Amino acid sequence: MDNAKEKLIKSLNPSNLKLNEPLSKHSTVRIGGPAEIWYEPQTTEEFCNAIKSARELGISITILGRGSNTLISDKGIAGLIIRNASKEIKILEGEIEKEEPLKETIDEIEARWQSDNQKGTFKYEFKDLDYDENNLPRIEVSLESGVDMPFAINYLIDKGITGLQWYSRIPGNLGGWIYNNVHGGTHFINEVVKSVKVLDKTSNIQILSGSELAFEYDKSRFQTSGEIILEANLLLYKGDKEKAKYVAMEWAKRKSIQPPNSLGSIFKNIDNQTKERLGYPTTATGYIVEHVLKMSGFKINDAAISPKHHNFIENTGNASAKDYLEVIKTIIDRAKDQIGINLKPEIFFLGFTSQELSFLK
Ligand SMILES: Cc1cc2nc3c(=O)[nH]c(=O)nc-3n(C[C@H](O)[C@H](O)[C@H](O)COP(=O)(O)OP(=O)(O)OC[C@H]3O[C@@H](n4cnc5c(N)ncnc54)[C@H](O)[C@@H]3O)c2cc1C
Repeated sequence: MDNAKEKLIKSLNPSNLKLNEPLSKHSTVRIGGPAEIWYEPQTTEEFCNAIKSARELGISITILGRGSNTLISDKGIAGLIIRNASKEIKILEGEIEKEEPLKETIDEIEARWQSDNQKGTFKYEFKDLDYDENNLPRIEVSLESGVDMPFAINYLIDKGITGLQWYSRIPGNLGGWIYNNVHGGTHFINEVVKSVKVLDKTSNIQILSGSELAFEYDKSRFQTSGEIILEANLLLYKGDKEKAKYVAMEWAKRKSIQPPNSLGSIFKNIDNQTKERLGYPTTATGYIVEHVLKMSGFKINDAAISPKHHNFIENTGNASAKDYLEVIKTIIDRAKDQIGINLKPEIFFLGFTSQELSFLK
C-alpha cells in the first residue's frame, strides 16, 4: 500500500474501517471482490471528512449504498469505498400549505409501467392500489443519505406521514434512491424531492433544488456530476395512515415474486413507441426476455434468469460478476440480433474496465 493510502487510513475512524473487505457482503446479489479501504462513517461530518482527505491525497473514491442496483467486479475496487451510515430522519415542524409549488417545478416523467396480469411473468397489478395525494397538506422531512429506505417508509407511515408507500419492498439507501430516481408503480421519487444537500466536486456543501436535479426515468444529475449526496428534504403528505399502510403491505406482497438475491430489474423497460411498433402487449422487458427471446431457464453457472421475473438475474449460489455480466451480454446480443432493439441496463457497474463493459455501447 502506498504512502497516500496509509495517510488516509490514519485519518479515518478505525472503528468504521476495514481493509480488503469482501464487497459481496455489501451487495444484495452477493457478488463482488474486495474493497481496498472500506469505510462506513456514522455521521455526515465523518463522511465529508473522509471524502475530502481522499481527494486531497489523490485516492479514488467509490460510493456505495445498499448495493442493490450495482454489479461489482470480481477484482473488487481499489482506493476508498465508502458507505454513508449516517441515518438521521428529521421531521421538520409545521405543515406546509397544500399549494406548495413543488409539482410545478418538476416535469412529469412518463412511467414505463403497464399493467398486464395475463402475460408471462409480469403478474402483478398496481392500478387498484394507486391514488392521488396531491390535495393533502404537505410535511417536510429531512433524511441523511445513509437512511435505509424500507425502514423509513414504515417509520414515517407510523407517524402519519405518507407518500413513500409506492416504493415498498425496494431496497436501498436514500443516496441510491435519489441517484437513479427510484420508481414504484407509476411513481418516481422525484415527485417528492424538494432539495438535496451535496458535497460538490470541490468539496463545498451546496443545496440543490428539486428542479435542478435533471430527474428522468432511471436518471438524475448525480450520475454525471460527481457530487455526493449527503441529505435530501422530501415534501411528503399528512396522509391517510391506514390506507398507506395497506398499500405498502399489499404492494410488497405482490412484489414478493421478485427474487431478493438479485439487483432488481436489469434492463429499463422499453418505451411506448417501441412497444407499439413491435406490437407487444406491455413495455416490460421481462416479457421480451421470456416470450420473445424465449430465454426461460437460461443461466451461466449460478447466474440465472429468474423464472419468476425474467428481467431479474439471480445469484443462485456462487455466481461471479463475470457469469452475471455474460448473462446480461447474451440477453443484449439476442435482443439486438432477433428484434433489433438495444436493451439498456438499469443497473450500475463498479470496478470493471471499459473493455469489459464495451458491449454496453
Ligand atoms: C429485489 C429488488 C427489487 C427492486 N425493485 C426496484 C423497483 O421497484 N424500482 C426501482 O427503481 N429499483 C428497484 N430495485 C433496484 C434498487 O433497489 C434501487 O435502484 C435503489 O435505488 C438502489 O439503492 P442502493 O442504495 O442499493 O444503491 P447502490 O446500488 O448501492 O448504488 C447505486 C448508485 O448510486 C450511487 N450512490 C449511492 N449513494 C450515493 C450517494 N450518497 N451519493 C452519490 N452517489 C451515490 C452509487 O455510487 C451507485 O452508482 C430493486 C432491487 C432489488 C434487489
